[in-house]
Amino acid sequence: MNSYPHISINKKHLSHNMHEILTRCTRSHVKVTGIIKGCNGHEEIAKLMLESGCESLGSSRITHLKALKRAAFECDTWLVRTPMISEVNELVKYVDVSLNSEESVLEAIHTACKMHKKNHQVVLMIEMGDLREGIFDQVKLEEMVDKIESQWTTLQLIGVGTNLGCYGSIRPTVEKMHALIEIAEKVERQIGRKLKYISGSATSSLPLIFKDTMPERINHLRLGESLLINKDLPLYHNMKLDTLYEDTMRIKAEIIEIKEKPTYPYGVISVDAFGNTPVYEDRGIRKRAILALGRQDISDHEKLMPMDPEVFIYGSSSDHLIVDITDSKEPYQVGDVMSFDMFYQAMLQAFLNQEMPILFE
Ligand SMILES: *Cc1c(COP(=O)(O)O)cnc(C)c1O
Repeated sequence: MNSYPHISINKKHLSHNMHEILTRCTRSHVKVTGIIKGCNGHEEIAKLMLESGCESLGSSRITHLKALKRAAFECDTWLVRTPMISEVNELVKYVDVSLNSEESVLEAIHTACKMHKKNHQVVLMIEMGDLREGIFDQVKLEEMVDKIESQWTTLQLIGVGTNLGCYGSIRPTVEKMHALIEIAEKVERQIGRKLKYISGSATSSLPLIFKDTMPERINHLRLGESLLINKDLPLYHNMKLDTLYEDTMRIKAEIIEIKEKPTYPYGVISVDAFGNTPVYEDRGIRKRAILALGRQDISDHEKLMPMDPEVFIYGSSSDHLIVDITDSKEPYQVGDVMSFDMFYQAMLQAFLNQEMPILFE
């Protein structure tokens, strides 16, 4: 007997999709760090990423990477959020590579490395316009490179990278990649050797690989969304690959009420469960179902898509999802189960919910 709500994963299809994407990357000589923060570090999914061709695994959270090391994963672990100074001891114990943009953090990592008799590999993040993390000032970059090379002897500079399409919505373009390569080559001249990695951002950079326009020297990407759920590319980048399955992950929930009711709330309208006043459209009396699924499971109902094309979502509270079933061909009853596809944010929240079973089919 299944319990609801749960995440249902089609393992064969998920693995197929990862394989397809990673094969394209390999063909373009791009190595991939599989990013597991979106699935709360789920180890079986991490394993699938490795089996499908990821070179290493990464997350924004050390806890995920520590769990991988404890579970004897043999690949390198990458921390893709600039480390907190308060976590450098954990960092050097459980993380092989980190992305960095702050001098004081690097110094703290070096100190921790000395204490634990460890080495740590560093990728310097360069600001390229998206305005999240990254070194902005070229002179500062040179100083940091110099200190890593001469002063912080436990640190190995293995690459430079950038982050695009996260905060500032800046699209990774061929021009942005060339600008990154230019900076990387300056660093290479400064240190007198080639960098192992020039890391050209995340899922939003994949179109360059699929279109075969990724400049040759970009040899690394950090991929999460595309490997896990692959909604961004078809939706925002007009890049739908026919060879990919669309049914890799679903969230399934149970119906707890079905009634015909008005669609416009009656009484004095104030605020909803979250202090907002949404706009309600009056569609007259409609047949609605309530599911035992709420924002604590999926963050925001806008990030869900009902698999029944005739069903649409009215709204949600912490533990309830209200949908319209008037036009559906399915004879829904209380106790029936509905399936939903998820966008990244809903997936992230679902995996974070400790009570949510994750079932592999
Ligand atoms: C989350 C993250 C990624 C992965 O991004 P996706 O869009 O999920 O592929 C890559 N790099 C950094 C720095 C990240 O924080």
